[in-house]
Formats: sequence, C-alpha cells, structure tokens
Amino acid sequence: MRNFVDVIIPIPLQKLFTYSITKAEAGFLNIGMRVSVPFGKSKIYTGIVYNIHNEAPTVYEAKEIHQILDDSPIVNQKQLQLWHWIADYYMCTLGDVMRAALPSAFILESETIISKNTIKEIDESNLKDDEFLVYEALQHQSSLKIHDIANILDKKNVLPVINRLLEKNAIQLDEEVYEKYIPKLVRYVKLHNHFSSEATLHKLLDDLHRAPKQRQVIMTLFSISAKTKKPVKVSDLSNESDASPAIIKSLIDKGILDEYHIQTDRVQYSGDANEDSKNLNDYQTIALKEIKESFINHNITLLHGVTSSGKTEVYVKLIENALQKGKQVLYLLPEIALTTQLITRLQNYFGEQVSVFHSRYSTHERVEVWNNVLKNAAKAQIVLGARSSIFLPFNDLGLIIVDEEHEQSFKQFDPAPRYHARDTAVVLANIHKAKTLLGSATPSLESYHNAQQNKYGLVEISQRYNNVLMPDIELVDIKDKHKRKLMKGHFSDRLIEEMTDALKNGQQVILFQNRRGFSPIVECNTCGHAPQCPNCDVSLTYHQYRDQLRCHYCGYVTAMLKSCMACGSSELDSKGFGTEQIEEEVKALFPDYKVARMDLDTTRGKYGYEKIITAFEQLEVDILVGTQMLTKGLDFRNVKLVAVMNADNLLNFPDFRAHERSFQLMLQVSGRAGRTDVRGKVLIQTYNPYHAILQQVSNNDYVGMFNEQMNDRYNFKYPPVYKQIKITLKHKDYTKVDTAAIWLAKSLRQVFDAHVLGPESPPISRIRNQFYKNILVKIPKKQSLSKTKEAIIKINNSFLSIKDFRSVKLILNVDNF
Ligand code: ADP
Ligand code: ZN
Ligand code: ZN
Repeated sequence: MRNFVDVIIPIPLQKLFTYSITKAEAGFLNIGMRVSVPFGKSKIYTGIVYNIHNEAPTVYEAKEIHQILDDSPIVNQKQLQLWHWIADYYMCTLGDVMRAALPSAFILESETIISKNTIKEIDESNLKDDEFLVYEALQHQSSLKIHDIANILDKKNVLPVINRLLEKNAIQLDEEVYEKYIPKLVRYVKLHNHFSSEATLHKLLDDLHRAPKQRQVIMTLFSISAKTKKPVKVSDLSNESDASPAIIKSLIDKGILDEYHIQTDRVQYSGDANEDSKNLNDYQTIALKEIKESFINHNITLLHGVTSSGKTEVYVKLIENALQKGKQVLYLLPEIALTTQLITRLQNYFGEQVSVFHSRYSTHERVEVWNNVLKNAAKAQIVLGARSSIFLPFNDLGLIIVDEEHEQSFKQFDPAPRYHARDTAVVLANIHKAKTLLGSATPSLESYHNAQQNKYGLVEISQRYNNVLMPDIELVDIKDKHKRKLMKGHFSDRLIEEMTDALKNGQQVILFQNRRGFSPIVECNTCGHAPQCPNCDVSLTYHQYRDQLRCHYCGYVTAMLKSCMACGSSELDSKGFGTEQIEEEVKALFPDYKVARMDLDTTRGKYGYEKIITAFEQLEVDILVGTQMLTKGLDFRNVKLVAVMNADNLLNFPDFRAHERSFQLMLQVSGRAGRTDVRGKVLIQTYNPYHAILQQVSNNDYVGMFNEQMNDRYNFKYPPVYKQIKITLKHKDYTKVDTAAIWLAKSLRQVFDAHVLGPESPPISRIRNQFYKNILVKIPKKQSLSKTKEAIIKINNSFLSIKDFRSVKLILNVDNF
C-alpha cells in the first residue's frame, strides 16, 4: 500500500496537489504540518498537509515530497475550517488563503529572496557549518534565492537550513522591515501645588531672594505659561531662563517644581501590568450588563456607543471575563487605529498577555506571535491586531472584539482572498463557539441592519464619558461666504474666528481635508488641457513641496510643467485643494503657531505616523492638517476645534456608500474635539448646508441617517438589502477587455437576467496601463448564494476556455466595497 499527502500550495490553482510519501513519513506527518515539495520543472514550494491517505492520483504520477519541515502542525483544524469558508465565500483558492494567512517566513519557495539581516549583528560561532556557509555567502552577495543556496550547499533540501537561519535572526526575507517606535519622552515642569496660593508664592519668592538664578527660573516659568497657556517643557525653561539643567533639577529636588510627562501611561510600558482596569460609570456598567445578557441569545452583539463614551473600557471588562475563563481573545482594529496609544493602554492593564500583530512588524515578530498563539502561551492570551490577525492559530477563542467595525479597511481589496475581516471574524468566532462584539460610534448599515433584524444584539451608550458634551457642530455655508467676500483662501471668517479663539487659549485644532497634495487638478487657462498620467486615466495632482506632478494611482512622478503641453501657454492654474495647500494657507494665516500635516505623504517614512501623533499629543503642534488618517480612534486631550474644510467632495464621491461614509467620517473626526471638560466645536464648511447628511451629522442623528440610506438601498437594490459580487476584467488591450466583458455580461444575463449590471468602465478606467471593466451581479436575499456562485464559476470556466480571453485577468469580489 502506498502513502500519499494532499498538499495546499500557495498558488491560485483550484486543486490540491497529491505527493507520495514513505510509510515512515506517513507515520510522522499530521494535517497542518509543512512539507517542501517540487512543483513544475524546477520550482520548490512550501505546502501545508491537508490530508493523508492511500489513494494514488489517477491523472498524474505523484512526485515525492522533498522534506518534512515541522515536528508538529503549525496550522490547526479550526484554521483549515476557516480557510475553507473564506475560499468558498470569497470565491478564491485555498492557496490564496494560505498565502494571506501565513507569515512569509513560513512559506519559503524558490522565488523567495533571502538576504543578510542588516539590523542585527549575530554571533557567527553559533552557526552550524551549513548555516555558516550560507551566511558567509551573503556577506559577498546581497541576496540569494533557494536555488543558489542549494548550489552552495550542494543539496536539494535546504529549507530547514534557511528556517534555522531565520530563527537565529541571521537572515531576512525580501520585505520592508520596520522597527518598533519608542516615542521620546518630553519632560515638563510646573510649580508645586504648595505654592498655588498668593501667600505661599510670595513667601517662596522672598525665600529665593538669595538665589537669583533659581528665582529667575520661577519668573520665566510664569511668563512662558502666561504667554503660551501650555505646559512648559524643561528644555524651553532652561533656554529662556538661561539656567542650566542642574539648577532646574535642584528646584525639582527641593520640591519647588514638579516634574511630569504628558500621557506617560501611553508611552511608558515597563513590561508588567501596572494598572487595574477602570471602574465603569453608570452608562458603561449598564452597557456591560446588557452585552452579557445579549450574548445569551446573540453570539454577535453590536455596541453602538458615541465617540468617547468609553467603549474601550467596556471591552477591557469583557476581556477580563474571557481571560478568567481561560479563553483567548482577539481584538481587531483597522491597521491605522493600531496606535501606540491603544497598545500601551491595554498593556498597562494586561501586561505581557497582550501580543500585537501588525503588518508593519517584521516577519520575525510575526512568526513569534504566531508561535505564541499556537502554543496558547501566556504571552498571547490577547491578540491586538489588524485585519490579518484573524488568521492566527487560535485554539480556544472566547471573545472577538471588532472595534471601529464600520471601517472599510477591514475589507481586503487586493490580492485574493478579498475578505472582510469583520465578517470573517464572525465566522471564526462561530467555529470556536466564541462571542463577537462589534463596536462603533457610527455602525455600518450592514451591522445595524442585522441588529434591527434581530440577527445581532444591540447595545447603546449615548453619553460621553464624564458627561462631556457632544461637540457643537456648526455648518458654514461657503457659497454665501464667497459671495460676501468673507473667505480667505479656503478659510471662512467663522473658521478663522474659532481657530483664533482656540489657539489663544492654548488649545489645539484639527483641520480635515480628504485630499492630499496641493491641488488635484492643474489646468491650462488658455486651452483647458490638464496634464494626465501616462499610465492611468486620471489627472495628475500637484505637490507643491517638491514642485511635482504625481499620479495617486500608480505613483508616476514628473516635474511640474512650465508650460502647457498642448498649447504651450505658460498660464497654468490649479483647481481644487489638498492637505498641502491647507497647510500652506494656515501657516500664512497663523504664523505664530506650529502646524503639522498628516497624510500618506508625510507618514510614509519610518514611524512617520507615530511621530506626528506623538508630537501632537505632547502639544508640540498646535494645528494638525490631515486626511482621514486623523479619524481613527485617536484620543487627544486638548483638541477644542475640528474643521472639515470641504464636505462636498466627500458627499459627491461616485459610490453608493458615499453618503454613509461621509456621515461616518465627519462624525468620527468631530469625535476628536473636546474629549475632556471643554466642550468641543466642529465647523463643517460646505456649499450645500441643507444636504440631509450634513443635517444628520450636525444633529448626531444616526438613526435618521440609517433610515434614509436604507430606503435608498431598498430602492436601488444595494447592500445590505441585496448582496453583490463585482467582477472586474482587466487587460492592456482595450478592445480585448471590451469584447470579453460584453461576452461575460451576456452569459451572466442568461442566468441572472436583470440582476446583472454592466459592463461598465469604472470612473478611472485605466490604471498602470491596464484597462478595466466592471460587471455587477446583484443577489436578492431569497436567491441561494451558493447556487449563484456555482453558476458564476461555471460561466467563468467557459470564459477561460475561450482562447482569445485567456489573457484577460478576471477578479471576483464578493461583498465588494
Ligand atoms: P471611545 O472608544 O468610546 O471613543 P474611550 O474608551 O477612548 O472612548 O474613552 C474616552 C476617554 O475616557 C479615554 O481617555 C478613557 O481613558 C476615559 N474613560 C473611559 N471610561 C473611563 C472610566 N470608566 N474611568 C476613567 N476614565 C475613563
Ligand atoms: Zn493649453
Ligand atoms: Zn498613474
């Protein structure tokens, strides 16, 4: 009797592949272990054992595996169950799921590029002979592939050596590696409370009569705080009073000055849990009780709590409960909300039980988290992670929290699997018989609809923590302001007034503008020509800072033109505006204040994002200009004013979710204002103040928004009323993609009739020299989803069998966003 394994290989082919193994190997192997296997003429892949059996494949002669790579499974049965669901639901292959699920260090293959780890020096004497040979070779050659290493070692089975080198941190795979960010602590001083009364203060100044230097420090402290109304940095005090750090230190030692750090709890984590979770207030207590009750009948419950209502603290209590029962917890967040702020907050409560899983972490760190979760180690009882952390090898999950559940970034666009992490989390929880809590101040229509249909439980918190008032939202009609000449650039008189006021009081301001760059369109005044990207069907965006034109779709960059390419005229004008232009205008309007900008361009570098947030938190920046990056769960204490520079470009976005999203975005940015005792102020500038969404935003009317939007979704058969699958075709030859799309749509119509829309060219119909066409299949609730998918797959197979269409790329996106 011969022995075989079926193996999942990380490539987009529907089938599993069968390899032959020896009897001994069959005795050793388990489902979920890795093997290295030959594939095609010369390729090597890492595969996951899916099945062990005795049936030879009928259509091909099974090759032998190269080697077994693990002693025990690294993927468990529950994960394989989830992989299956993802492949079925999102219409992709198990190989696609495998590639997304495993850290790349786990799936070495012939194409993997290996180089020396430049960040860390290692002790070469710890390397075994074969490891040393590879390491040595990498001193002379910047990178090697698996085949090169096979040549160096003169053997085929080299993956184990590479795995060992990875474990020893001697090599790295070709990918960007980020280091963890440790913010610099800024030291502040204030006068000790003893001296808050007139009398004690006078006495102090008298006492210091004979220490003029020290007295000078105190006087300078007064003058700085009177001038800036902000906390005083030790460095500023030392500079302005001309006193050495030693003098300031002696004042601290004497108990005259008090030294402190702002938000030290966020930036200092000593390694131990050092804080008890907070006592909940009445609203939070009721919500917690309601959630627990809701979990009795609803495994999935939605927590709709206004911004700053203290949802995180409620999550913390639920996490404590789950841990007490010995269960693992997954806390999902959009990538961008995974800030040092939140991480440290949880680490302070739970210490080392928290592991963070982040796409920006190195392979090494990701492998470490993977292994800890797999072992159910004490270190990984709580995983705080972005979308891809649903793939970790949990074996006993008790609770999944999906915070900011409305965030569209939970959905993966590209490549397959195009999964939605929130929806997948619900399935994952179900596999573990665990509970799921979805949280948001602005729930997605999908989730709120599910709650209304009683599929999910619903719990609300309508008060902010500490009874801080919801910000006062004011709509500013900029059409009127323009007419009455009350605009300075893109700033209305109201905005300037409110900014002046807040800044004068030492408070901070956030300005939200959804577009980056200086101005999105450059146009010739003479002939109207606008410079276009040579690879994409879009106009280029002007970035003044580098005097460049850039394509936001493919990254194409060119110097700003001196004259029009079409007519030669030198009168080029820019239209529309982005964050860069706002930053420039605000610097001119408020030259005495420090301005920073947070968008894709400024956060790209190492720590870019954390640096800006920390500077803002530590009050080194007065005005922060940014894109929607600003909206995500940040908890700034000193922001009084938030302004949306132009609401209209959000509302007019060509997408059926544009209104829902605008509502969410505006309420979320507004939520950054006035999170402490001072009531926040929000100004929304718009040409159309009577727009229903803006009215709903200004009244914080979620339910009004929900009802009205749902009405549209019913009328136009959009999600969540209908499901939809988007089929995208792309090819560099327009005629080809056009013909193919027409054929495909016609075939789909024969089955689904009027529920097929398109083919259509998307608003941007060419990207990176590929032409795009979209077809949309709408699926009524009563129509079987699996039958629908079967039919689509059948049509796709006929499509692929047509020779002319074979080179057209087909992309299926279920529940597209
Ligand atoms: P949300 O996530 O709902 O926007 P947060 O959980 O960030 O709100 O809470 C807002 C602020 O209120 C945070 O600074 C948090 O530390 C504070 N807070 C919330 N609940 C409590 C509590 N029970 N005791 C003390 N502070 C709390
Ligand atoms: Zn011109
Ligand atoms: Zn482009």
